[in-house]
Parts: sequence; C-alpha cells; structure tokens
Amino acid sequence: MALDGTRLKDALEAIAAEMATVEERGKPADYIPELARVSAGHFALCVATEDGRLFSCGDADTAFSIQSVSKVFTLTLALGLAGDALWKRVGREPSGSAFNSIVQLEYEHGRPRNPFINAGAIAVTDIILGNHQPREALGEILRFLRALSGDDTISIDEAVALSEKQTGYRNFALANYMRAYGIITHPVDLVLGVYFHHCAIAMTAQQLAQAGSFLAFGGRDPLSGFRVVSPDRARRINALMLTCGHYDGSGEFAYRVGLPAKSGVGGGILCIVPGVASIAAWSPGLNDVGNSRLGTLALERLAKTMDWNIFGIRS
Ligand code: GLU
Repeated sequence: MALDGTRLKDALEAIAAEMATVEERGKPADYIPELARVSAGHFALCVATEDGRLFSCGDADTAFSIQSVSKVFTLTLALGLAGDALWKRVGREPSGSAFNSIVQLEYEHGRPRNPFINAGAIAVTDIILGNHQPREALGEILRFLRALSGDDTISIDEAVALSEKQTGYRNFALANYMRAYGIITHPVDLVLGVYFHHCAIAMTAQQLAQAGSFLAFGGRDPLSGFRVVSPDRARRINALMLTCGHYDGSGEFAYRVGLPAKSGVGGGILCIVPGVASIAAWSPGLNDVGNSRLGTLALERLAKTMDWNIFGIRS
C-alpha cells in the first residue's frame, strides 16, 4: 500500500496539537524514583515506513525507559534460540490479570499465561540466558536492538536497573515460584539481573519505531533487507501483541486502535501496521492498567485518520 506522506505529516501535526491540549494525561509510574520523576508533559509519535523514512512529532528524539516493550525483542531472540519448545514453558493466552499477578501463576502450576506479562517475560529471559553469563546475554539483547534500529548508542539506564532490582520483590516472588516448577532453570538472581536490565534499556521513539520495522514487513528489515524472523514467526509475534500486548487492557486497546502493539510502564508503545509501518508512541502518564494514556489516544487518532487497522476497513 503506497503511503501518503503529506496525509501522514498532516495527521501527526494535528495529533500533536490535540495532545498538547489534553489535561487528563495520566500519572507516570511511581514504583521507582527514576520513572516517577519523568514529566507527564512529554509526548512523542514516530512512524517508520518501508522506504526508511521517519515521520515524527513531539519529543521523538528523547530517550525513555522502554520497560516491557523490551519483551517483544526478548521473545523474538528466545524464539530464535528455542523455537517452538519455548511454548512448553510459556502460554499464548491473554491473562486478563495485572502485569505482575501472582495468583494466576499458582492456579496454572507455574506456567505463565503469555510472554508479555512479567512472569512470562522472566521465563523468556531464562531461555536467553542459556549457557551464557548474564553480561553476555544482555550484550546479545543490546546488540539486537542496536542492529535493528541502526544505532549503536542505545544503552541501559543503570540507575533504573538498580532501582528495579532494589524494589522488585514481586518479580523475585514470580521467579522463585517458576523456579520451583522448573519453568526457570537458572538461579533467580541471574535471570532477574538480565530481566531488570533489559527493561531498563533507554530508547527514543525514533529508535523504537525503526527497531520494530521487521514486524511490519513480514519479518524482514525493510532497510537492510535482512531477514530477522520468518514470515510465520512475524505473524505470530504480531498476534501475541494484539491479544496480550497491553496487560489486562489488551482487549480495550485492540477495540480502540485495532492494531498489534506492546506497551511498557515507561509510557512507550510499539505499534505495528502490517505491511505499512512501525510506530512508536511515548507519553509517560499511564491509565489505571499501566498503559500510556496519551500514547493510546494518539494511536487511536492516527489509526483512524490513516485508515490503519488489521481488518482492511476504510472509513
Ligand atoms: N520492569 C517492570 C517490572 O517488571 C516492567 C513493567 C512493565 O513495563 O510492565 O515491574
């Protein structure tokens, strides 16, 4: 589908102007000081297209903590390592529960519902750890993100990682519980060390939109032509983003936006328009289930204005 650049630019301009007027912006995550102190005033939207163009508005070159958006990339890496055997350890159903829920894990004998809730992402991280030292596993995740976004400057915010570790009691509980069931095979502190650090990766909306491009174009990076994953795998990762990408707000996001996407408590959202574009939205204020309030609203507007949805519907 040819992309109308003028229409997209106009849409972004109109959305940025509207977002600047919204008073109810939600509240930034406050479970660690590094996230609590980020201003709710930030807003960014960046669209990466097949020919490598980036269309942006707002603070699209300000780095933010990608948090759970990293789970899309760790899942991609872990599937590359373990293949479908990964699904013996992690399910593929929406959870309908909070991102860090413990109750469901107990009911389901230590096997997390999906790879995008905390428990599932921790199990995925255990797979990436494999025979590596934590430092090597993290290096692999960072190299992957740098290669995808074509930017070697992407790095980890060590202060965020440290705070996550100091306050991550629930994640320790989830990991210990899964270790008891053999879903996690490495020592819990090693797995969580890698998990906290990949959640603490800082990226700009421009870098994130670029990094997600392979998911919009059948698993192939449209710029380099490099095949990151097979078309089947790209379709499946997108399907999981659609059904599980927004914690217990996944149904609501799919209803409002109609596109696969993954959010993080740093206020970032990676959203895929299959065959057309990869989009990153960022605004730190969250709604009551931990998803970016303005990010969601902006994506809803953009999807409607551009006629972007996975149902082939044009208004
Ligand atoms: N590092 C966060 C945690 O594990 C990630 C939360 C999120 O973005 O969902 O609590």
